[in-house]
Amino acid sequence: MTFEELNISPSILKALYELGFEQPMPVQEKVVPLLLENTTDIVALAQTGTGKTAAFGIPVIQQIDLESRHPQALILAPTRELCVQITDDLQDYAKYVDNIHILAVYGGASIEQQINALKKGVHIIVATPGRLCDLINRKAAKLEHVSKVVLDEADEMLNMGFVDSINEILAKVPESRNTLLFSATMPAEIAAISKNYMKNPIEVAIGKKNVGAEHVKHICYTVHARDKYQTLKRIADYHPNIYGIVFCRTRKETQDIADSLIRDGYNADALHGDLSQAQRDYVMQKFRNRNLQLLVATDVAARGLDVDNLTHVINYNLPDDAEVYTHRSGRTGRAGKPGISIAIINLKEKHLIRRIEKMINKNFEMADVPTGRMICEKQLFHLIDRTEKVEIDHAQIESYLPSIYRKLEWIDKQELIQRFVSLEFNRFLSYYRDATDIVSQTVPEERIAKKDGVKYTRLCINIGRTDKMVPQHAIEMVNEVMPGVYVPIGRIEMLHTFSYIEVGTQYAEQLIRELNRMAYHNRPLHAHIVEENVTNSRRNSPKRNKRGDDQKADFKKARNGDRKKKRY
Ligand code: AMP
Repeated sequence: MTFEELNISPSILKALYELGFEQPMPVQEKVVPLLLENTTDIVALAQTGTGKTAAFGIPVIQQIDLESRHPQALILAPTRELCVQITDDLQDYAKYVDNIHILAVYGGASIEQQINALKKGVHIIVATPGRLCDLINRKAAKLEHVSKVVLDEADEMLNMGFVDSINEILAKVPESRNTLLFSATMPAEIAAISKNYMKNPIEVAIGKKNVGAEHVKHICYTVHARDKYQTLKRIADYHPNIYGIVFCRTRKETQDIADSLIRDGYNADALHGDLSQAQRDYVMQKFRNRNLQLLVATDVAARGLDVDNLTHVINYNLPDDAEVYTHRSGRTGRAGKPGISIAIINLKEKHLIRRIEKMINKNFEMADVPTGRMICEKQLFHLIDRTEKVEIDHAQIESYLPSIYRKLEWIDKQELIQRFVSLEFNRFLSYYRDATDIVSQTVPEERIAKKDGVKYTRLCINIGRTDKMVPQHAIEMVNEVMPGVYVPIGRIEMLHTFSYIEVGTQYAEQLIRELNRMAYHNRPLHAHIVEENVTNSRRNSPKRNKRGDDQKADFKKARNGDRKKKRY
């Protein structure tokens, strides 16, 4: 289908083609004809990125009677940013429609200026519900000639507590109007609005959730909660050209993470509702201009921000609602470009991943956090790459070059490269030199699939009762050397100078390697296999037959009471 076939007027067509819109998107194919016919109310399930602004914007503009200066169309949206964005979009579509007046009114800006603008006469009002109610009450906004009402992101307006304002506004608009409601979800309150204020609305569902979703790769890092921030830093370090949004749950968390990133030398800033409007505008402008690499934001604050070239979306915390995840991840991978959506989770959040996988109909790639070595390598080659590509401004540096050449002439080329690389690179080297790797948290197969029948391997360790070793210490030792991994432990036998411990066979080799690197009271540990694939040992092992809460409590007590005596 073409835009011409949708009966769009030539002046709007011209603007659309200039914007590079070649053919209508599905939501536009469905909604534009219905709105142009003017006969029915519509409830549309569609998200940002589906082209919905043009779907309602084009017919709204086309049907304005330019001779009259009364407001004829009203568009309600949850945030100032979205109002501004919708207004900008409408102005783009109406570029060749002379004398059309579209006004955005929202809270947080001077109401007097908005009143003056309304007095001059406008055709289309794009408003946040709260501010529009104020303007109605001050008799500045008159809605008796409004024939089209659009509720954009209706679910979000309800989330933000605008339900009363919306009801108040809708009660003031003539009943003969057409109402169009856009929502990404359909909670009961929306159904109530559509029942109370809409006449037999047609439901339109836009199947394709997001134009860019197919280009998005979903990656999940499962780490200990305390390692989340370090993981975020490593992701940023591993992608030197990262340009992305880090989504947090609360305003406080958003600010804290942004503060930490700034303190640690990253090009980051925060965007959330506790900031003033001017601060939010400033941060968004910086981000749009790419003067900011990482924007740490809450979902609501990031709503009005439409940026196309994000390389990454990072979920520092996953939203409870899988739908919100699709909103977030849909911000990357747009316009045919590849994008990466990352979730940093701990084991407890694993169920959210499954829910999201079902919803997006794609699996997450479970990845290990980049090691210090991988990051250093990546940064190093990034630096070399930049060196190869940098443009030399000969005019600017020419006059300095002779004395620089003279100063460096005693260093040969190889050493010069080494020095120059070190200059930039030492920060990473020194930071990561002693950094331990962040271990992914995993749920071993047997814990999920079958609690009994685990295959064990019996190890012998060269410490025993004379070393004041008790079974709890053996468990503690396993946990210490393999953090974040659930290693099944079977029977533990403490003998005089050595002990036997049964561990899940799949971990035996790794455990031996780790233990053999440790010392106990300055005595180097030595562990080796005595018997492989022992089954059902748990039944013989009342000391270690489960790892429930009581076991954890014992474990803590033993550890606290014994901390001073034991040193690995
Ligand atoms: P929206 O869902 O309204 O936020 O639109 C998502 C993006 O798609 C915006 O950047 C629009 O400019 C763009 N867009 C809307 N309609 C079309 C179209 N028919 N062809 C190409 N791009 C479009």
